[in-house]
Amino acid sequence: MNQKRPRIGVMGGTFDPIHNGHLVAASEVADAFQLDEVIFVPTGVPWHKKAVSSAEHRYLMTVIATAANPSFTVSRVDVDRPGVTYTIDTLEEVAKTYPNADLFFISGADAIAQILVWKDIEKIWPLATFVAVSRPGHVLELPDTEQAAIEVLEVPALAISSTAVRARVTAGKPIWYLVPDGVVQYIAKHELYGADN
Ligand code: ATP
Ligand code: MG
Repeated sequence: MNQKRPRIGVMGGTFDPIHNGHLVAASEVADAFQLDEVIFVPTGVPWHKKAVSSAEHRYLMTVIATAANPSFTVSRVDVDRPGVTYTIDTLEEVAKTYPNADLFFISGADAIAQILVWKDIEKIWPLATFVAVSRPGHVLELPDTEQAAIEVLEVPALAISSTAVRARVTAGKPIWYLVPDGVVQYIAKHELYGADN
């Protein structure tokens, strides 16, 4: 009966929109840490920035972007929880759903650097192994703590950000190959980010 504990990645983000940098990061961490599944968790109201698009648009784009990968799933926990999204709440929800799993929280170099300002930081550490992936334009500065399990992973560099994708759409520039095809089409269909072409 020696059943293996499931290994579950959790990737939180605003995903406004989700882009190939997010997907490569998740795919690389899944491979390096032998994850059974990666759950993408779009934020409800982000505590640190104002999302441009509604939670529903961001959730649906994340579903479209991950649909073809059998080990990628999307969770609505943060979208459906009223109020601001905190990582502690996200991880506690996932831990409740997967009580026997080992959790791996995936974030980019910039996001992990903000880790010390997270709410309830000492309660967060025991919930997951933290995997910080490299990101072009961001120096990886790890918080100075012994309480946390933080792993660092170099991933193929994709200098893509949602901010740049939004700016390109607004300027009428193409976003093909920066985001999955279905996301390009979804943005055009719903005229997100001032797209009118
Ligand atoms: P924005 O420009 O709106 O902040 P973003 O591109 O930074 O968007 P987020 O939704 O803020 O995307 O990021 C979610 C997570 O994905 C964060 O942990 C972030 O560090 C990571 N991430 C985003 N883009 C990349 C990338 N190109 N390479 C590696 N990690 C990334
Ligand atoms: Mg960001």
